[in-house]
Amino acid sequence: MRESAPEPLLLIDGALRPAADGGTFPIVNPATGTVIGSAPDATDADADEAIAAARRAFDETGWASEPTFRAHCLRQLKAALDSGFEVLRHITITEAGAPRMWTDGPQLRTPIDGLDYLDGLLRSYAWELDLGTAKPMGLPTRRNLRREAAGVVAAITPWNFPNQINLAKLGPALAAGCTVVLKPAPDTPWTGAELGRLIATQTEIPPGVVNVLTAGGAAIGRRITADPRVDMISFTGSTATGREVMTAAAPTLKKVFLELGGKSAAIVLDDYDVTAAASLTAFTACIHAGQGCALTSRLIVPRARLDEAVEACAQTMRGIAVGDPADPATVCGPVISAAQRARIESYLASALADGGKFGCGGGRPAGLKAGLPAELAGGYWIEPTVITGLDNSARAAREEIFGPVLVVLAHDGDDDAVGIANDSPYGLSGAVFSAGLPRARDVARRIRTGTVGINGGLWYAPDVPFGGYKQSGVGREMGVAGFEEYLEIKAMAEPA
Ligand code: NAD
Repeated sequence: MRESAPEPLLLIDGALRPAADGGTFPIVNPATGTVIGSAPDATDADADEAIAAARRAFDETGWASEPTFRAHCLRQLKAALDSGFEVLRHITITEAGAPRMWTDGPQLRTPIDGLDYLDGLLRSYAWELDLGTAKPMGLPTRRNLRREAAGVVAAITPWNFPNQINLAKLGPALAAGCTVVLKPAPDTPWTGAELGRLIATQTEIPPGVVNVLTAGGAAIGRRITADPRVDMISFTGSTATGREVMTAAAPTLKKVFLELGGKSAAIVLDDYDVTAAASLTAFTACIHAGQGCALTSRLIVPRARLDEAVEACAQTMRGIAVGDPADPATVCGPVISAAQRARIESYLASALADGGKFGCGGGRPAGLKAGLPAELAGGYWIEPTVITGLDNSARAAREEIFGPVLVVLAHDGDDDAVGIANDSPYGLSGAVFSAGLPRARDVARRIRTGTVGINGGLWYAPDVPFGGYKQSGVGREMGVAGFEEYLEIKAMAEPA
């Protein structure tokens, strides 16, 4: 299957090509630690050409003013992704370590299907709004509001859900009439390059409208965020990098859209089955080895039920085999890199140093399960881990770990639970469990996050805006709100 995945190339002004100086960087399979290919390492000259092409396509072609043609191109892109699904699935499993199971959902299938939502939106969206007449300063005036594309977008994405995030930026940006320079993460260049290849070979999206720059470091990201020809930055990644992006965008006052980190809390109220809620939360904490910004990584339970909750989490996690992401039964694959594993291990050590203990896990799996391919011994594995014995001030309870690690905390009633959940610099997502729906909704309303699931409810869908309060971000991705991030509003007035 590896042979059938085309070589990654840059896409610049409609041309698929290597980096200007021929440079490449390795792509590593996190399940084996082996190099599976290489991607072009874009140079400053490549970035310069890509931005110039995006600028030209925006300023000098009809792209921004042809919504019907754009909808046609998005349908072509959807068809190309459907027909290239198995190749993209293989790339996603091997370069992101994404378990195959999740490629039928948020790792691939759902974001591709989300393009249909944009097609529907383009058919019905009101680009102009008649505000009627008024008499500002006594002058009868007819007013009209118009929505226009924001311009050239620099889209910078992380490695954890590469297709979801590449498409959640590219889709609405193109639907809105923007042109794009997409820079995928150094760990997952192949999924971005394959998207570029499909666009170049199987759609009529004009040259320059989409450019893809793979790069092994952060320099190209820095360059495109600072370039005055870029109108808007759409960034997903860590909060620390988000701050750098905002700073780099300040001199040219670009529109900045940020989707950042999280430390989301699941609250179990005292009228709910704590075992059921803890088991579900422990399971979701292991999805894609916990490398999801919106996965709940703190479980807050009634103090009297703490031991019961920890035991339920441990039992669930012991039943989740960390394993080969290509196996359709695997829930929890490897973490992305040796560096990420070391980072997670430093959090596990800090939890012990702060007086915590492990309900289960706490390190690397002792050995490979019988029957697994020997090459997996080189992968970056971490055992699903439950941490207990900490309060919310501990580092492991406050900072984003981004591994299959769940911290269980105790609360003393609804107000205390809300206080603990909100005592975080982040505000991305959350969950509430209560036998009384009005009580659950009341708590959900008080949690300061962009999304909240009630009693296991799933908010993830193409029409639901996703994003964070506080240091989890600025703006919303997906839904009408996510589409409108890529638009400007123009008010026009004429004598009535
Ligand atoms: P990261 O911040 O290290 O990198 C993200 C992207 O930014 C990469 O493409 C990287 O090359 C680029 N980059 C790095 N430094 C840059 C700079 N100074 N200027 C411009 N670009 C720069 O994040 P990561 O490790 O790839 O991803 C994990 C993080 O992403 C986690 O914190 C996670 O919570 C967050 N995330 C958030 C969401 C969300 O929607 N809120 C979704 C997924 C991941």
